[in-house]
Formats: sequence, structure tokens, C-alpha cells
Amino acid sequence: MNRYSTIEKKNPREIVLLRGSGCKWKKCIYCDYHLDLCKDEEENFRLNSEVLQNVRGTYKRLEVINSGSFTELDKKTYDLIEDICLDRGIKTLYFESHYMYKDKSIAAKKYFFEKGITLKIKTGVETFDEEYRERYLHKGFGFVGVDKISEFADEICLLFGLKGQTEESMKRDIETGLANFERICINIMNKNSTPVLPDKKVINTFKDKILPIYQNSDRVDILMDNLEFGIGTKIQEVFLK
Ligand code: SF4
Repeated sequence: MNRYSTIEKKNPREIVLLRGSGCKWKKCIYCDYHLDLCKDEEENFRLNSEVLQNVRGTYKRLEVINSGSFTELDKKTYDLIEDICLDRGIKTLYFESHYMYKDKSIAAKKYFFEKGITLKIKTGVETFDEEYRERYLHKGFGFVGVDKISEFADEICLLFGLKGQTEESMKRDIETGLANFERICINIMNKNSTPVLPDKKVINTFKDKILPIYQNSDRVDILMDNLEFGIGTKIQEVFLK
């Protein structure tokens, strides 16, 4: 599995996919990323150290993801991320976090700020339609609105290509995201090992009506394929053969 890459076009940055103890939530119905985990902290640290050695500081920005939330990384990896940032001149660090770690995310921002590093938190809200998000996707944020989410997150991910979504609903999510957060990342549902299938009609609507509007915006990352950042693998090919 490829765990290091660089993103050259929008908001240039290095990106690493590390491994943690596993997502504590694990209930989002469309997700199988959480299968990338190991309960052995030493093994995770060994792997994560190797991956982090690739970081050069080229763009002074580093995105760290780990198939869950940053709080699920072991302490030694967490410390190493800080050392690498200081050593390679990283000024902006990105972590992913679930809403349940809101307070820890705010504390981590303060911690890194004191080291001269701006920590940005990215959260996978998937949609601002609370009913859809909580009753269908089982996201586990609770029925919280954008005001609460923007208290801890700087960027959000949206998930499109699911049944029930429409041109209007997708546009509404994008516009809400852009009005309340610095950047957004749109992930198009890809077939994976869960029973949730991509809805081709919704994806075609996205391609025809929405992609042309936002594809050149520097504030919008769009991943038609979830390997487009150059990291990861089709998880089911690794774990479910
Ligand atoms: S989408 Fe994120 S929070 Fe939801 S189960 Fe997957 S890793 Fe966990």
C-alpha cells in the first residue's frame, strides 16, 4: 500500500497515510477504511516512522491521515510527527478528526500553535443534511449543525454519489461548506466492500452539473477515485481477498 504522496495542484502539500489503533466509531455504513488498523502500537510506530521519513517539507504543508482520527495514533507517532514538522520546516499540519474528538482537536490546535505550527482539522461531515447523515449514513456526529462543526473543523469532506442525493442537495452541501470552512474535499462514492453501492445516476448528475462549476476552484478538492491523492489502495483487495 502506498502511504506517502505529494499533491501538486491545489493547496500543494505532502500527504501520509499512517496506521493507528483503528476508528473508534466504525459505524458509517459506507466505510471500510477503518480496516486499516493494528492494535500493536510498536508495529504501528515502526511502520509510521518509515512513512514519515519520506517527508521533505517541500511545500511546508503536511496532511496526515490514518483511516480514522488523529487521536487514534500512538503517542510515539504523534511525537514523531511534531519532530518531523519542526525539523523539515512544516508550518501547516492537517489532521482528520471525527466530531467526537472535538475538544481534543481544539486542544491539539493550541498545542501545535505554541510550537509555531498551524494545525488544521478536517472532518468528514459528508453532508449537512442532519437526518440523512445521522439516520442513513450513521455518521455519529449527532444532530449538530454547521455552527458546532465549524467550532473545531477548518475543512470538511463531503461524500457524493449516494442514493437520494440530487443536484440541489449536492450544491447546497458545497455552498454551505464553502461559506463556513476554508476548504472542502468532495469524495465520490467508489464501490468498496460495504453493501453501499455508488449511485450512477447521482454521479452522472455530479459530473454534468456540478463538476464544471467547482473543478477549478482552489478551495475544492474533488476525488472521483479515492486513490487520486496517490495514497492507499482498494482496502478490500488487501483485507478481504
Ligand atoms: S468514515 Fe471515518 S468515522 Fe466513519 S467509520 Fe470510517 S473511519 Fe470511522
